[in-house]
Amino acid sequence: MELESLRALRHGGGFEKSILVQLPLPKHINEEKILSEISIEKDVDGFHPLNIGKLAMKGREPLFVPCTPKGCMELLSRSGVTVKGKRAVVVGRSNIVGLPVSLLLLKADATVSIVHSRTPDPESIVREADIVIAAAGQAMMIKGDWIKPGAAVIDVGTNSVDDPTRKSGYRLVGDVDFAEVSKVAGYLTPVPGGVGPMTVAMLLKNTVDGAKRGIVE
Ligand code: NDP
Repeated sequence: MELESLRALRHGGGFEKSILVQLPLPKHINEEKILSEISIEKDVDGFHPLNIGKLAMKGREPLFVPCTPKGCMELLSRSGVTVKGKRAVVVGRSNIVGLPVSLLLLKADATVSIVHSRTPDPESIVREADIVIAAAGQAMMIKGDWIKPGAAVIDVGTNSVDDPTRKSGYRLVGDVDFAEVSKVAGYLTPVPGGVGPMTVAMLLKNTVDGAKRGIVE
């Protein structure tokens, strides 16, 4: 979308109650500039710097929480996994998944470590975790012997790998080696069918919450 039309949407007093920018943007478009143009009241993706800033600050509440991280927390909560006081390790530190989910876990009183591409010996850090959030975009990187027995493992990764047995020639796998980790973990989300649908549900929830707020105003 052109910046001018985005501004019109932002400032217009029309009926639009939410705006979502499909990321990643093509390289010639400045993502920071585009995301900052979205009114925080309509930022259902929760990526506006003000929403992320409030998420990071103690005692502040963002208007919207990013959908995939929010979905991870919902999965933990609905599965009865205690977060408070637990050791959580997030693999990945991106603006859209790793960083915000780390902030949410911290807000929920977990002790949080973040592993990224420059972390030496990531497996020894992941092995300490009661809760693992895998969001590295590396197919089946996390193996069974990385996981503490009984840990809750949320696999955000969605990676396509060649599969000549499929008509499409590929299949989707997570960042977690499902066959291995399912033997050790207490909880494990599948790919596809785990975090993906929950992300969509959280986007709808954010949209409805935003619309309700708009009506009340
Ligand atoms: P990015 O590529 O933006 O970030 C990946 C992160 O993982 C980076 O912080 C990177 O570190 C880190 N990383 C990469 N390789 C390694 C490694 N070998 N060891 C440790 N850390 C590593 O990806 P996204 O956060 O956007 O997405 C992550 C995955 O989640 C992707 O597979 C994506 O498709 C999927 N996804 C799924 C969604 C869903 O709804 N199910 C929604 C969003 C994403 P560094 O910062 O050092 O480069």
